[in-house]
Amino acid sequence: MAEMEGIKKKCKVLVVGGTGYLGRRIVRASLAEGHPTFVLHRPEIGIDVEKVQMLLSFKNKGARLLPGSFDDHRSLVDAVSQVDVVISAVSGAHHRSHEILIQLKLVAAIKEAGNVKRFLPSEFGTDPGRMGHALPPGRVTFDEKMEVRRAIEEANIPFTYVSANCFMGYFVGGLCQLGTLIPPTDHVSLHGDGSVKSIFVDEDDIALYTIKTIDDPRALNKTVYIRPPDNILSQMEVVKAWEDLIGKELHKTSISESELFANFEGMQSILFVGQN
Ligand code: NDP
Repeated sequence: MAEMEGIKKKCKVLVVGGTGYLGRRIVRASLAEGHPTFVLHRPEIGIDVEKVQMLLSFKNKGARLLPGSFDDHRSLVDAVSQVDVVISAVSGAHHRSHEILIQLKLVAAIKEAGNVKRFLPSEFGTDPGRMGHALPPGRVTFDEKMEVRRAIEEANIPFTYVSANCFMGYFVGGLCQLGTLIPPTDHVSLHGDGSVKSIFVDEDDIALYTIKTIDDPRALNKTVYIRPPDNILSQMEVVKAWEDLIGKELHKTSISESELFANFEGMQSILFVGQN
């Protein structure tokens, strides 16, 4: 009836990883855009009270919680069978290898269910298809995301890949310095001369544009790049904006490429700035 009256029926969305940093924003955006929204509830979260309360808050806003575990293939098939669109926002933040394993399990479930009209795997960074030149240890992130893409395409699952560049919360607060989220008031360490441009995107905008792609035929089997023109800034431009705000010039030193890469040693997960 709604379709006869020219009102597009809202597709049903399942968010996997809905309690995560980005995932919770995707759940909220999906609800705000009026989609029947489902969130995978993994029994493994146990008594993680923050996650349980977040899931309950989604439920109070109209989301449906679907039980499902990555250790139980049938439960995943049952969950994805109930929706039109699956969005994965899982991460390997704590165990790098977990992200690919759980995403491949999700691909297998979607393939078996056979009903999903669009799958958005957990990407949301620099396009891994353009990161063949990335150096270890960071390149493992891109290699794994490419492996997930191959599995999706071999299974003929309709997809959209979202390239969201740099999360603003991770990079802008600390003026693009590694290891800090808080802006300094005296000194800033520049990468080289700080002139390389990066694209910074607000996480709520990433979530909203992700939701807007799910039923857009232009995004079917395509990569969507989120790159707001005003947010393409060099580290120096970010620093200058902060200096203007606090009315003070920071003392600046420079970190060379070799020093930067030495700092990466031993880190589990690296997000590259300025490569896109
Ligand atoms: P989080 O680390 O906040 O975790 C997201 C969710 O992953 C968790 O809530 C959990 O879902 C699920 N999860 C984690 N480990 C496991 C596991 N072992 N088994 C099952 N589920 C697990 O994710 P982020 O929001 O930080 O990252 C989401 C995506 O965004 C990733 O693809 C990441 O690479 C990307 N990213 C991009 C950045 C950028 O600057 N471009 C910065 C940070 C991330 P639940 O408990 O809800 O089931």
